[in-house]
Amino acid sequence: MISDNFINILHDIKTPLNIIIGAIQLTEHNNDKNSENKIIQDKHFQAIKQNSYRLLQLVNSISDFIIAGNDGITFNPTICNIVSIVDELVQTSVPYAHHKGISLKFETTDREIVAPIDIEKFERIILNLLSNGIKFTPPGGEVIVKTSCLKNKALISVKDTGIGIPESKQDMIFKRFWATNPLSTISEGTGIGLSIVKYFVDLHKGKINFSSKEGEGSEFIVEIPAFNVSCLPGMSIK
Ligand code: ADP
Repeated sequence: MISDNFINILHDIKTPLNIIIGAIQLTEHNNDKNSENKIIQDKHFQAIKQNSYRLLQLVNSISDFIIAGNDGITFNPTICNIVSIVDELVQTSVPYAHHKGISLKFETTDREIVAPIDIEKFERIILNLLSNGIKFTPPGGEVIVKTSCLKNKALISVKDTGIGIPESKQDMIFKRFWATNPLSTISEGTGIGLSIVKYFVDLHKGKINFSSKEGEGSEFIVEIPAFNVSCLPGMSIK
């Protein structure tokens, strides 16, 4: 029997794969039009490289899960500046969003927000929300990712101007294998992503909330316990 964790990982392999495919398609497109467009090409190659590494990491996780079995999920926190991590994830997704005709922006209230996070799992939280924002927003729309700090909490918001989630279905979205429109062509998903996101947010002792209006868009806000930078004299920050 295939374990739930194994299915989770398979789902997460699709996110960087979509970014890689988008970057390759865009590079091919630019090659046709203007082979001297080096800066744009370098940006796409950067996205291909980073997301290939991410895939490699996920494949490594598959062997970890198989070895460790169902109780094998570990939480390895490192003290990190989440602003630079979220910024980098957004920048690598920009070519994929642009390919879909969507504007993707990153904003932050602080240059440094420090929190103990499991980097791999934190990245999977953000990538899943980002990928949903892009996936469920039609061309011409916008996705804005924002980091901010409130007391001892780091807040990460992923807001889109997409199709939104019908009110009657909003209490189900964190359930596994659930999708509002499983037969629609817009949903390439299986309804696993948000259940993983919720599980990983819980591991961080955080919270996830959302608001959504059908036809207008959605906003997901992740809240993770954070430190005030001034409380960390002498500690090394990634
Ligand atoms: P999937 O793999 O189907 O994307 P998720 O668990 O990530 O699975 O999401 C579950 C369902 O919630 C999606 O199929 C979609 O119907 C809805 N959903 C999630 N995020 C959004 C969003 N940003 N905009 C609209 N609908 C969303």
